[in-house]
Amino acid sequence: MDLRECKQDLRGRSGRFQAMRAIIAGLHPLCNDRGASTPMVDLTITFLGTGTSQGVPMIGCDCKVCLSSDPRDKRTRSSIFVESPECSWVIDTGTDFRTQCLRENVRHLDAVVYTHSHTDHIMGFDDLRVFCKGGRNLPIYASGPTMADLQRVFSFAFDGRNRFPGYILPVPHVVDGPFLLGETELVPLPVKHGRTEVFGYLFRRRGEKRAVYLSDCKQVPDEVVETLRGAPVLIVDALRHRPHPTHFCFDEALGLARAAGVGRTWFTHLCHEVLHAEAEKELPPDVRIGYDGLKLEV
Ligand SMILES: [Zn+2]
Ligand SMILES: [Zn+2]
Ligand SMILES: [Zn+2]
Repeated sequence: MDLRECKQDLRGRSGRFQAMRAIIAGLHPLCNDRGASTPMVDLTITFLGTGTSQGVPMIGCDCKVCLSSDPRDKRTRSSIFVESPECSWVIDTGTDFRTQCLRENVRHLDAVVYTHSHTDHIMGFDDLRVFCKGGRNLPIYASGPTMADLQRVFSFAFDGRNRFPGYILPVPHVVDGPFLLGETELVPLPVKHGRTEVFGYLFRRRGEKRAVYLSDCKQVPDEVVETLRGAPVLIVDALRHRPHPTHFCFDEALGLARAAGVGRTWFTHLCHEVLHAEAEKELPPDVRIGYDGLKLEV
């Protein structure tokens, strides 16, 4: 089944979005019943995970964040689930992918998109098999180097020999420019994460920027800042307050948000040095700390 065919499958979901649009249209002073200015809200982003590579709590750690009872301080490995009226996809399948899908009741995926091949972003790959039930192919999107790593690490899935019924049927799509998932355009944003190049993604619908996901980054080139300029939502790496060699700290993430003039910013990929309730109080009101299970309508 390709992405266009999946539209039929998702009529129910589409209906839900139509209803949501209608509710918002009723509240929005600029909207009218002729649909002349339909509000642009038809993507749902669920934060599957917001933690750094070891997760929070960390094994064997007795710090106040690892022992916190605030559910927002329980962080599984970073990933998002995106639902549009036409189709749905995840960005990255980290070590906690299975438990994240169970927690958020993810039952259907039309594609998987990768940022890079670090283990905290790919090690849930084998659990994608459930989304290939009935011999359904699963399109996999990644940069050339990330795809090469996926094909090496999970050679048993890509080499065409493991064809037991119900096993994962990945179809590689090497990303070298913007591409469409349903009617959402995904624009790759190459950023530096130490020596690794990572693809962040800008989501655009009907030519309008909706959201940007930059999970792991340390340097964002000027042209990428221009590409994401003015986006209403930025989800960005902010590991901790102290600087780190390969991840943004809070000040760097805030600096990007200001340089790009984005709307609301959500921090992700957080480590056990960040106590949600305390850290969020110190941030400006338009910058918030993401947490597992958070849903944004954009
Ligand atoms: Zn990571
Ligand atoms: Zn700790
Ligand atoms: Zn990484």
